[in-house]
Amino acid sequence: MQILQVSAEYFPLLKTGGLADVAGALPQALLPLGCEVRPLLPGFAAMLDGLDEPVEVGRCLTPWGQPLRLLRGRLREPAGGPQAGAGIPAYVVDSAELYLRPGGPYETPDRQPHADNHRRFAALCWVAARLAEGFDPSWRPDLVHGHDWHAGLVPAYLAAAGSRVPCLFTVHNLAYQGLFPHADYAGLGLPAHWFQLEGLEFYGQLSFMKAGLYYADRLSTVSPSYAREIQSPEFGCGLDGLLRQRQAVLSGILNGIDDRVWNPLHDPHLPVNYGSDSLELRAGNKAALQAELGLEVRPELALFTVVSRLTEQKGLPLVLAGCDALVRQGAQLLVLGSGDRALEAAFAAKAAQHPGRVAVRLAYDEALSHRIFGGGDVTLVPSRFEPCGLTQIYGLAYGCLPLVRRVGGLADTVTDADLITLDEGRASGVVFDRMEQGDFDQAVRRMLALYRRPADWRQVQQTGMRQPLHWGDAAARYQALYRAMLVGDR
Ligand code: ADP
Repeated sequence: MQILQVSAEYFPLLKTGGLADVAGALPQALLPLGCEVRPLLPGFAAMLDGLDEPVEVGRCLTPWGQPLRLLRGRLREPAGGPQAGAGIPAYVVDSAELYLRPGGPYETPDRQPHADNHRRFAALCWVAARLAEGFDPSWRPDLVHGHDWHAGLVPAYLAAAGSRVPCLFTVHNLAYQGLFPHADYAGLGLPAHWFQLEGLEFYGQLSFMKAGLYYADRLSTVSPSYAREIQSPEFGCGLDGLLRQRQAVLSGILNGIDDRVWNPLHDPHLPVNYGSDSLELRAGNKAALQAELGLEVRPELALFTVVSRLTEQKGLPLVLAGCDALVRQGAQLLVLGSGDRALEAAFAAKAAQHPGRVAVRLAYDEALSHRIFGGGDVTLVPSRFEPCGLTQIYGLAYGCLPLVRRVGGLADTVTDADLITLDEGRASGVVFDRMEQGDFDQAVRRMLALYRRPADWRQVQQTGMRQPLHWGDAAARYQALYRAMLVGDR
C-alpha cells in the first residue's frame, strides 16, 4: 500500500506541536505493516535542510501562476533512534518565494499570520493532488492522508481533478481552521460554485478545515473522546453540524508514543536513564533539574511541571491562580513554554514572587522538555479541550504523573487515582472534571496526598510506564482504515 502523507510539520525537522510528533512517527510505524508512507512537506528551510540526497522530480506552475519545484529525497530521522540515517523517502515542495522567509512556519516574526498563507498551503495541497495523478513517474500513491487545515484542500483538489485516489483527512485541532477572506479563493484553481454552504465556505470565508471535512472520503481525529466531542456545539468550533452529518465516516484513533524518541531507558537527553524497575534513579534527574532551573534542590518537594504552548486552550489560568496554594503546600512549579504574551508575563511574575520554588523558562526547548519529564514529579495538563495531548502521554511514560482535566484524549489516556483504581492497579494519574479553580486546587491536593504515600506513588508511576500507548496500535488502526478505503468502502 502506498500512502502520501501531507503535513506542514514533521519531527525532528520542524515542530510547533503534537502534529509534528505524529507526522514524524506514523511513516516508520506503518512500515512493518506493509504501508509505504511518503511525507509531502512545504519547503521551509528546516525541511530542505533535512532532505538528504534531493533530486528534482519536476517543475510546475500553480493555478495562480507560481513556479514550483518538487524535490524527492530521504528525511533525516531522529538522532539516536534505531533507524537513524536510514531516512524514509519524502517529497518537498520547493519555492523560496512561498516558504523561505523570517518568522515561524505560519507567522511573521511579530506573530502575525503570513498574508499569503492561503497560497502557501494551497500549493502544498495542489502538489499532493498532482502526485496522486502521477506527477512522479516512479511512485504513485494509492491513497492520500492529509493532516490538519494545512492539508484541507487536498481532497478538494482531488475532487476537482476527478481523481479516483481516496483521501483520509485527520483533525489534530479543530480550533485552527485556516480561514481566509472570500477574495483569496479566486485563483486557487477550484470551482467558483464550491464556495457555498455545501462546500468550503464558512460564514462568508474560505475554510481549509471545512474543505477537508467536506471533501475527504474518510475523517479521523486523534482520540475517541475528541471524535465524539467535536460533534457537539461546545467543541465543534461551528463545524459540529457537518461533523454530525459525516459521523459514519469519522473515527477517533489515539496517538501513540514514539519509542525511538521518548523512552527513559535510552533517552540521550537525560542525565540518568531509568526504567519502571529502577525508578529510584529518577532522583538524580530531579536534583539536576532543580539545580539547572534555580529551584531549591530538595528531593522531598513535589515538582509540578508544565511543558506547553502558552495558549488559552491549555487551561493555564488555573495553574497561575493555583500557584500560591501549590507553593504553600510545599511544592515547586516549573514551566517551560512560549506563546501568549500575557501568560508569559504572568508566569514570569510568579517566578519572581517565589524564587527557588517557581521557575519559568519562556522558550521552546526540546531537550529541556525531556529532562522535565525525566526529573519532574507531576505533568500538569488542565486543558479546556485537548484533541489527544502528548505531554500527558510522555508524563505517563516517564513516571511524571499526569494531572489532567477529563476531556478529549486526556480522558482516554489517564485513569484517576482513587481507592478502587489503586486497589485494582489501574490508577495512572489524577483527573478532575470541571474547568473551575476549586476542582483544580482539589486535584493538586489529591496529587500531594498521593505523593506522601511513596508505595502508592510508585505503583501509579509503574502503571503509567507500563501502559501500552505505542504507535504500533495506532498504526494498525490507520492501516485498517486505509485498507477499508482501498477496497472501495470509501
Ligand atoms: P499541542 O499539539 O496542542 O501543542 P500536544 O500535547 O499534542 O499539544 O503536543 C505538544 C508537543 O509539543 C509535545 O511534544 C510537547 O512536549 C511539545 N512542546 C510544547 N511546548 C514546548 C516547549 N516550550 N518546549 C519543548 N517542547 C514543547
